[in-house]
Amino acid sequence: MPHNNLGAKCPEDAANADIAARLARRLARERSARLEAERTAEKGLRDLYAAKRDLDIICKVAATANTANRIDEILEPAVEAVLDATGWPLAAVEQLGARLLEGPPVCLTRSRRDDLASLALLIGRGSLVLQPDSEAADALEKGEVYFSTDLKHDPMPFAQRVVAENCGMRYSVLVPVRTHERTVAVIRLIAPTPANNPQRLAILLGQIADQVARVYERQQMAERLIHDALHDPLTQLANRQLFIDRLNRAAQAKLMGGKDYSVLFLDLDRFKAVNDTMGHAAGDTVLIEVAARINRTVAAYRLLPAPTVARVGGDEFCILVENEPGADGAIGHRLASDLVERIARPFVLGAEQAEIGVSIGVAPSFYAFGNGDLVLKSADTAMYGAKSQGRGQVQIYDQKLRELDIRRERLVQCLREAVKAGFRGFSVVYQPIIDLASERLTGFEALMRFVDDTGAAVRADEFIALAEQHGLIGKLGEFVLDEALQAQARFNASAAPDRKLTISINVSPLQLSPTLAPVISKALTRYEADPALVAIEITENVAIDQSERTMGAIDALRGLGVRVSIDDFGAGYATFGALRKFHFETLKIDRSFVEGLDADEGIRIVKAIIDMGHGLNVAVTAEGIETPQQARMLRELGCDNAQGYYFAHPLDFEGAMREALQQPHVSHRDAA
Ligand code: C2E
Ligand code: CA
Ligand code: CA
Repeated sequence: MPHNNLGAKCPEDAANADIAARLARRLARERSARLEAERTAEKGLRDLYAAKRDLDIICKVAATANTANRIDEILEPAVEAVLDATGWPLAAVEQLGARLLEGPPVCLTRSRRDDLASLALLIGRGSLVLQPDSEAADALEKGEVYFSTDLKHDPMPFAQRVVAENCGMRYSVLVPVRTHERTVAVIRLIAPTPANNPQRLAILLGQIADQVARVYERQQMAERLIHDALHDPLTQLANRQLFIDRLNRAAQAKLMGGKDYSVLFLDLDRFKAVNDTMGHAAGDTVLIEVAARINRTVAAYRLLPAPTVARVGGDEFCILVENEPGADGAIGHRLASDLVERIARPFVLGAEQAEIGVSIGVAPSFYAFGNGDLVLKSADTAMYGAKSQGRGQVQIYDQKLRELDIRRERLVQCLREAVKAGFRGFSVVYQPIIDLASERLTGFEALMRFVDDTGAAVRADEFIALAEQHGLIGKLGEFVLDEALQAQARFNASAAPDRKLTISINVSPLQLSPTLAPVISKALTRYEADPALVAIEITENVAIDQSERTMGAIDALRGLGVRVSIDDFGAGYATFGALRKFHFETLKIDRSFVEGLDADEGIRIVKAIIDMGHGLNVAVTAEGIETPQQARMLRELGCDNAQGYYFAHPLDFEGAMREALQQPHVSHRDAA
């Protein structure tokens, strides 16, 4: 039998031990639960603290980003923030592909270690090149933060990697700076240990990078606005404003003893014909291709600084060459000759071809105008000089042109003062217009004359062009209108009703505005003129401009009942279809065709014009008849009216009055 002594005691002890063990277990459980709770609380606090720190970091970056206009203002703060966020020793911003940063990329280290400082220098130099289809490239393109587990997976140059590894660095993180369109840069962090909370870090780094991207986009937007304001949208060349700005600087610098320069002014030949016949889209294509040819030709000269190429008007381009070896524009002249040759080559437009050309004026810095507008004007003058020699020419602004300019400047001044002084020096002369069949006077063309302050007569072509360019033509037009209608009233005062003389008055295209008809209407009323005996002569070229303004002005003239006469017919570029829209009553054959009447071909052309005029029920007048042969030929061809030195030169009022008075004062229609 087992000893029973303890037998009574044993069950008691066992029960106690059991309780103790249970208690111990419970205690342990409670302790561990308490520890767990403490740990959770601590972690919550830590997370809270970390979140608060992240928030502080991101707030600081965002505050800088809010005021930064340029990308370089945000890069350093962003890299600082990244270092704050990770506590890692080194971070850099590296550009990707396109130019992002003006200076070198930013690379910062907080470590005092020399080897890390060298690594920072090394990284701070290059830009990042991504291996296509690599893991890193994929992540960065998608805008995801990339954690490399080994520097080998980081797309860094070999030399950098070796140095980084020697510094004890094993891990890197690449954070894409992504705009709406693409990843433009990467923030790279390098560390000896892996990130301990990659998810949290990825979010924070992503937010910092977003702030950088925001500033980048803002800067881009501002740069685009500035670019658009200074460039031609079609060709992307500089616009007039930018060109003048650069030219002003070059011109002023030259005045202060700076470098010589030259300016080329290009005006395309026959471009309007391309636009009119092949359409505006073809015209645009030609302009873009011309810009490209200019750029290529200029680039071949390898000049530094690169010349500024600008589009300054519809088919006008300018080039500023800033490194001329002397004041005579030698490089500009050579470049101009090259350009003439290049632009003369055909332009292929789909199945069609266009051939245009260019006339170029070159202004050297010899005359040292301190103002860009004056330089440009002299280049423009030279360009007109080139055009007047025929197409595809180059003309340099030389002493002769300079003298011409000086004369024009003086003349403009003189015209201004003369207009102000009640049209002092201006007068109107009257050239008889003859009915060819009867050789009887039918009327006069009023032509303006001007004598300058030295008493010299100035050619009508010359002073009228200047008056047009300087805003004086409107006033002069009113002067002529008034004089001519007054003269007509006196010519016709005693004429028989069917012998009344017509008056033809030239109107500049610039006068075709809404105010023209009211002005004419008032003058008609003032002199009680019969509108049917008043012809307004408009040159053929106005038909090219079919703007509402022009068309409206001509319609308004017809509304007054005056006749519209197409002047210089055949000398301009207007298509007949365009001309017909004006419903004119008279067509004046340009003098150049009358000159051609001594050849068979010339005769055929004039005959064609006359027949066409009659087909349209339009009276035809020939201008510039100087010989009896021309007069006879025109009569044979059936031309209605004639005007020219052969019949009479323009006459002053008294002379014209004498002619008018020789008209029969009663109807001689039958006797004629
Ligand atoms: P246009 O309207 O074609 O005027 C005819 C021009 O030919 C006049 O020159 C006239 O004197 C000239 N002429 C006439 N017969 C002959 C001839 O047989 N042989 C030659 N070689 N020439 C002849 P003008 O008066 O020097 O005027 C030149 C141009 O100036 C005019 O050409 C016209 O475009 C413009 N013009 C003249 N007066 C006025 C005006 O009052 N207003 C406007 N807007 N323009 C005017
Ligand atoms: Ca005329
Ligand atoms: Ca004419």
